[in-house]
Amino acid sequence: VSIAEITKQAFERIEKLDPKVDAFLAMNKEQATKQAEEMDQTPLAERGPLFGLPIGVKDNIVTEGIETTASSRILEGFNPIYNATVVEKLKAAGMITVGKLNMDEFAMGSSNENSYYKNTKNPWNLETVPGGSSGGSAAAVAAGEVPFTLGSDTGGSIRQPAAFCGVVGMKPTYGRVSRFGLIAYASSLDQIGPITRTVKDNALLLEAISGHDERDSTSANIEVPNFAEALTGDIKGLRIGVPKEYFAEGVGEAAKQAVREALAVLEEKGATWEEVSLPHSKYALATYYLLASSEASSNLSRFDGIRYGYRTEKAGNLLEFYMNTRSEGFGDEVKRRIMLGTYALSSGYYDAYYKKAQKVRTLIKKDFDDAFEKFDVIIGPTTPTPAFKIGEKVDDPLTMYANDILTIPVNLAGVPAISIPCGFENGLPLGLQIIGKYFDEETIYRVADVFE
Ligand code: GLN
Repeated sequence: VSIAEITKQAFERIEKLDPKVDAFLAMNKEQATKQAEEMDQTPLAERGPLFGLPIGVKDNIVTEGIETTASSRILEGFNPIYNATVVEKLKAAGMITVGKLNMDEFAMGSSNENSYYKNTKNPWNLETVPGGSSGGSAAAVAAGEVPFTLGSDTGGSIRQPAAFCGVVGMKPTYGRVSRFGLIAYASSLDQIGPITRTVKDNALLLEAISGHDERDSTSANIEVPNFAEALTGDIKGLRIGVPKEYFAEGVGEAAKQAVREALAVLEEKGATWEEVSLPHSKYALATYYLLASSEASSNLSRFDGIRYGYRTEKAGNLLEFYMNTRSEGFGDEVKRRIMLGTYALSSGYYDAYYKKAQKVRTLIKKDFDDAFEKFDVIIGPTTPTPAFKIGEKVDDPLTMYANDILTIPVNLAGVPAISIPCGFENGLPLGLQIIGKYFDEETIYRVADVFE
């Protein structure tokens, strides 16, 4: 089959399936079709494993000539003049970007209900949310619209929607993947990562997007392994830590039971497991919302109506212009975070909130350092429960935040973690979270592959 034909079929599938799922925002049909035709000229010997395959990209990753909104009204009509590093890398691997995927506005949310444009639905049950903020990316893969997507994960935004949609989602080690061209939410936490149907696909895609980038000063100058080679099936002697805090009250019985069954499978293959404590986990949620909101309040100050996207029609002077553009352009959740972050950073409160949160972050990181002295991976559920109904939590931000309780500590520490499908509750998928040491995504993939 020609790449042109594969690409044509990819768009046909999306056109057929997306009206139900609502995962896609802008489509890239014209450019993609042209790229596919050109690529058919590439000799077979020069084609890598991902060559010619379609991919969807989360809408907070900038794509040259394709509208990029981060699902915010304030970026409506914004057409970037350059590609994010990851998008350049997809191109270099011969992948075809077919379109942009819906998300919570500026990646703030856990259900996709904070998108200005539409609500993405969970393909397993169209009345439930796909999770967030990379809900469009997870739903598009789960529905079979595309085999590969990119998401971003600041506090769980790849792993939680992957769990809710029954697909594989990896948050790489902080610094593994360049953030150049990722619209910043909380820069010290944000990472781009792959969402796929299989572990092998995930490993291939992570390899393609990883690597040092001069344009991101936090990107690590560290070798990129051939992750797919780690899928040996051999986990003999692997030491697994199971945090007791991830089996606390509030985590559903079905999620706990699914993890216990997964542990039994790993034991049978020669791994051993033991309970471990991550004692500062209970402070993770508060710490995260202080730090993430603080960074967001600073990062989002660039949206002033002058440089890109939406601008107000009603303004008598410059100050009013800024204020009206931002009041009209940002949604409620984004405003809530800007207010919280500005407050936490203001003089007089900085020491009590921001500085203290930074100190607790160090303690949370130390919990992981201590645990990894003894264990190769840490395993627990990805989320306390499966996908919830659309509308169910939308008026209750604190309950919505609590959804990320098991994924957030990982971002605060900066370690990598994957979510793979693991059991069901009421016909909806649950996720198994496998957390690894810094830059040891290989071991995570090897463990995940046992369940393929
Ligand atoms: N739900 C979390 C938040 O709203 C995580 C989002 C993310 O990882 N981008 O901040």
